[in-house]
Amino acid sequence: ITYDFSGKTALVTGATKGIGRKICLALGEAKAKVYAIGRTEKELNELKAVNDGIVPLCVDLANWNETVSILEKLEPIHYLVNNAGVTHLEDFLSISKESVDKVLEVNVKAVINVSQQVAKRMIENNIDGSIVNVSSVASSRALDKHIAYCTSKGALDQVTRVMAIELGKHQIRVNSINPTVVMTDMGKKAWSDPTVSGPVLSRIPLGRFVELDDLVGPIFFLLSDSSKMINGAFLPIEGGLLVG
Ligand code: NDP
Repeated sequence: ITYDFSGKTALVTGATKGIGRKICLALGEAKAKVYAIGRTEKELNELKAVNDGIVPLCVDLANWNETVSILEKLEPIHYLVNNAGVTHLEDFLSISKESVDKVLEVNVKAVINVSQQVAKRMIENNIDGSIVNVSSVASSRALDKHIAYCTSKGALDQVTRVMAIELGKHQIRVNSINPTVVMTDMGKKAWSDPTVSGPVLSRIPLGRFVELDDLVGPIFFLLSDSSKMINGAFLPIEGGLLVG
């Protein structure tokens, strides 16, 4: 399916790398105006060089107030993709408060903050908006050394549910995608050792991990009017991993 998002404005967090970069460029190709959030100026400028419909915004989402002051100035947004995320791999018995905080700041609190700012403007401007939260299979499955990450994604799914009922009343839909491993920088950090990734891979009926291309269609579907009556849904993108 070819999507045409002309006249739509999108905001993608974590746009400098991996999944966010792919989605940002794909939205740009589909003719949306895209605000791209990340912390790395060089990578943000590279996005603009590829497509000048992409507007870079250098923001540290862990900083609540800085994020608010930047988002307050933006024009109204139709589509929001809450993709930015971090992980920290450590045993349950040794993880520190600081490490847990760092993961929750970005993976949970920043989603609430960014969505609140964007949703307020959607409501003020009568926009039937769509928000997609990038969660993970890790929201419902326990993974070794992923205590902070699994906690954050479980919490994110609850954020999605509450946003779906509260924002649904304003014709703003909120949905989630829940992929398994994608070999981005984050994916490699956790899964590049075949003795760790092998057991997961062997349980995926389709026999492979997720490619960046596999994510574009599901996210576009949830953003677009093709999913007009879908709100509070969780779309697994895991080749059947969770079925077995
Ligand atoms: P990457 O590590 O490749 O990219 C993460 C992105 O998040 C970067 O653009 C980074 O920007 C941004 N980011 C992180 N912290 C901040 C911050 N404080 N402020 C602003 N931006 C920030 O990760 P992926 O592309 O793999 O992951 C994207 C999302 O997908 C995450 O939510 C992740 O949990 C989820 N996911 C990933 C899977 C995987 O296996 N890779 C599987 C399932 C879900 P910068 O570097 O410029 O700070």
